[in-house]
Amino acid sequence: MRVASTRGAASAPISEAIAHGLATDGGLYMPPQLPPSAREWGNTLRERALALLLPYFADDPLADHLPAIIDEAFTFDAPLRWLDDRTALLELFHGPTAAFKDFGARFLAATLTRIATGPNATVLVATSGDTGAAVASAFHRRPGFRVVILYPDGRVSPRQAHQLGAFGDNVRAFRVAGTFDDCQRMVKTALGDRALVERHQLTSANSISLGRLLPQMAYYAHAAMECARTGYAPPSVIVPTGNLGNAFACLLARERGLPIGKIMLATNANRALVALAATGRYEPAATVATLANAMDVGAPSNAERLLARFPQVRHAIDADWADDEAIGQAIRRTWDRHHEAICPHTACGMEVLERLRARGDRGTWIVAATAHPAKFDTVVEPIIGARVDVPRPLAELLARPTHAEPLPAEPSALAKALA
Ligand SMILES: *Cc1c(COP(=O)(O)O)cnc(C)c1O
Repeated sequence: MRVASTRGAASAPISEAIAHGLATDGGLYMPPQLPPSAREWGNTLRERALALLLPYFADDPLADHLPAIIDEAFTFDAPLRWLDDRTALLELFHGPTAAFKDFGARFLAATLTRIATGPNATVLVATSGDTGAAVASAFHRRPGFRVVILYPDGRVSPRQAHQLGAFGDNVRAFRVAGTFDDCQRMVKTALGDRALVERHQLTSANSISLGRLLPQMAYYAHAAMECARTGYAPPSVIVPTGNLGNAFACLLARERGLPIGKIMLATNANRALVALAATGRYEPAATVATLANAMDVGAPSNAERLLARFPQVRHAIDADWADDEAIGQAIRRTWDRHHEAICPHTACGMEVLERLRARGDRGTWIVAATAHPAKFDTVVEPIIGARVDVPRPLAELLARPTHAEPLPAEPSALAKALA
């Protein structure tokens, strides 16, 4: 299937779009709008992933590989944890780096491995904390690839920073003297530089990549079908949101006919998307540092995709936000009520839900739990007054030595570092 750019001047077969990342006209490739289907969608996460994704790959050389790609990527589950009879957390943090980014990163790696990318591709990734580790883990020691990570120095959690520098081998981590938006801009500039792209066989692993976006539909389908199977009304979903990759995937799942009610974007104090959801107007802003650092995004990279689909989806979406104080309260409240430790990003979602409930909403809601709280121990543990158990894969990474190189927040510095 061919996919077209949000800016209308470029289109490509889907596998090429995944290999390129950014469209050649500077826009983002849009998943084509497929008609909703009332099919059964399978029984397991993998079956559901295949049923959802196959139509996008119709006529593509990757179609035959899709079952193997999905088997390679979806090696862990996305269970629902019910907090009461109409509220569930969708636990997306059971992968190797303990955040939902593992799903998309592993699918992208499995896909790029099956597309001829040249003998030595460089996967360039800007990260607000979790993407870098997920991408590094997915490509670690994969022949034919190296990974270059840019993260904002001092603006990721201590354990996130450790994780980013703990891979070594074909992974290099740079701590950039700037914000996440600076890192994202440097990556975009590099990917827009034809000569640089040719020289280093650059490709992107940022959330603009369809190879990350599309597989994220699967766990929303899985959650919605599990609700249907166990007799619940179609759930609405709250998605802690930064670059809008995860929430956009939820919109796509809904578009395909999955029984999903409303989709609520929950941001931190970086609120460009709250305004966008309300007005349809997009005004990027400077990044504000918050406790939910993986969502510290002033200029969400997928905003352009939401704008392109806005007339069709505006009735289905809503948005609200939580400041740091509210994040802390939500962590505390969730612990007190349910004895459940949640990360600061998930807390944005729980805070937004709390307000809906206070206004009398009695519907079934799923809150996407985007990272394991152990990644944010320095925030979570003092609030709940208890230790959070570290999942085994995270503990293994934290036991390794770590190293990151400093880098000025300038595109020219990145070009030099790539050489
Ligand atoms: C990346 C991330 C988010 C934001 O996801 P987007 O797809 O960028 O909207 C939320 N929570 C955590 C823990 C993350 O790592």
